[in-house]
Amino acid sequence: MSDNLFERFAGRMQERGDADFIVTPEGQHYRYRDALAESARLAGTLRDLGVRPGDRVAAQVDKSPEAILLYLACLRMGGVWLPLNTAYTGEEIRYFLGDAEPALFVCRPPDARVAERIARETGSTRVVTLGTKRDGSVMEAAAAASPFEAVEPRAAEDLAAILYTSGTTGRAKGAMLTHGNLASNAEALTECWRFTAADRLIHALPIFHTHGLFVACNVVLMSGASMLFLPRFDADTVLEAMREGTTMMGVPTFYTRLLQDERLNRERVANMRLFTSGSAPLTAETHEAFRERTGHAILERYGMTETNMNTSNPYDGERRAGTVGFPLPGVALRVTDRETGRELPRGEVGQLEVRGPNVFPGYWRMPEKTREEFREDGFFITGDLGMIDERGYVHIVGRDKDLVISGGYNVYPKEVEQVIDEIDAVEESAVIGLPHPDFGEGVTAVVVRRPGASLEEADVIEALQGRLARYKQPKRVFFVDSLPRNAMGKVQKNELRERFRDAYA
Ligand code: ATP
Ligand code: MG
Repeated sequence: MSDNLFERFAGRMQERGDADFIVTPEGQHYRYRDALAESARLAGTLRDLGVRPGDRVAAQVDKSPEAILLYLACLRMGGVWLPLNTAYTGEEIRYFLGDAEPALFVCRPPDARVAERIARETGSTRVVTLGTKRDGSVMEAAAAASPFEAVEPRAAEDLAAILYTSGTTGRAKGAMLTHGNLASNAEALTECWRFTAADRLIHALPIFHTHGLFVACNVVLMSGASMLFLPRFDADTVLEAMREGTTMMGVPTFYTRLLQDERLNRERVANMRLFTSGSAPLTAETHEAFRERTGHAILERYGMTETNMNTSNPYDGERRAGTVGFPLPGVALRVTDRETGRELPRGEVGQLEVRGPNVFPGYWRMPEKTREEFREDGFFITGDLGMIDERGYVHIVGRDKDLVISGGYNVYPKEVEQVIDEIDAVEESAVIGLPHPDFGEGVTAVVVRRPGASLEEADVIEALQGRLARYKQPKRVFFVDSLPRNAMGKVQKNELRERFRDAYA
């Protein structure tokens, strides 16, 4: 037996036999036994299409069970799975194909012509298609392929996937993830969150991101559970799915949207045992509101593309609102001074650094960048700022790149946002730093009013008097209809900084 992650899954898949792996809202059942056979057929197909162990298989496809089977097939034959955000345009795809040089690019059927042109211009990538109705040229090729029944031997350090980061702070970087990284994290999460074969996960996340792909699917495969595979988040469908589901992994916007629906109540979640949240900060307010309505304390965890999951609130024990819990087993986490790099005592805010079997070996073809972000003793500098409280819970206060330095003082946006959000007429807010001739950066608030509420710049500034030190108070307040967010619910502060950049010019 090698360290190929698929070996781990295959054992479970065999055991689970006729049990469901994936169920769709249309009532299709993908049983473990069939998924195992299909992964062999698709692995054979990938080989027929010229993919060799170590080659990248890029995929920009809509969410479907077949896309997951293709991911499994790729692991099985030793390929490197490289999913791409479905929102990327042709120009962006050109960059990713040029950077990753995949042997194969799987795209949506209507994108084939453009993809072929781009592939010709960027190298020797072959293009096939996959639709959501078991259609596309890769499925046609599979019908004629002879299955690859073996599992390609892989070492724990061999690459299993390359995932580009979300691109929140700049151009997306290709994070290389090994079989060992993925296996260790899936194991830790299965254990911590008590996943068993009896679980049915409500899967409403995209599958091109670490959350919906690795956290969700790998934990399901590791535990032999099943998933209700929804094409996207939709409150109606998710509320319906709660009748049958036992767990849901969500991003904070899932929870805020569910809370807007009166059908969410204790009776509705009677079958559910666990709700988790991650990818973006869950406010303490949302955590409390959800607990009040459903009796469930959402379990918040913290991770990133480069490291998989790092911390989690406890399954048993207090799930502390506004915190991301404790380091997972095997993960070391420390807080260091942003200037000197020295380790800081509990309670002090600094950079979060992590080390463990979950942490990636580096960025694809960016040795410089990789070196910059690792310490000599193997700790990875996450780019997030946070602290560890007196009870050991980790708090995230924001990203290092979002820190505002005004007149030489550090202003943590989250602290200011929390105070602004307490104003009755405020729905939500984002605080950013903008170039300022006197202060270097001016603290600036971007605010969404509650529907029907009236609120002006002066009202916000007035409300903050005495509640925040003067240097933390926004110098300007702008109003928008909604905050720009990506598919994972992350606020795109770069966009806001760009939009309001001349505020103090
Ligand atoms: P890029 O690195 O390309 O700028 P990104 O950091 O948004 O994009 P991801 O890897 O998808 O790309 O996101 C990881 C980041 O998401 C973390 O570094 C952290 O800032 C944020 N995050 C994840 N979970 C949480 C959480 N529970 N609370 C607060 N922030 C979180
Ligand atoms: Mg990042």
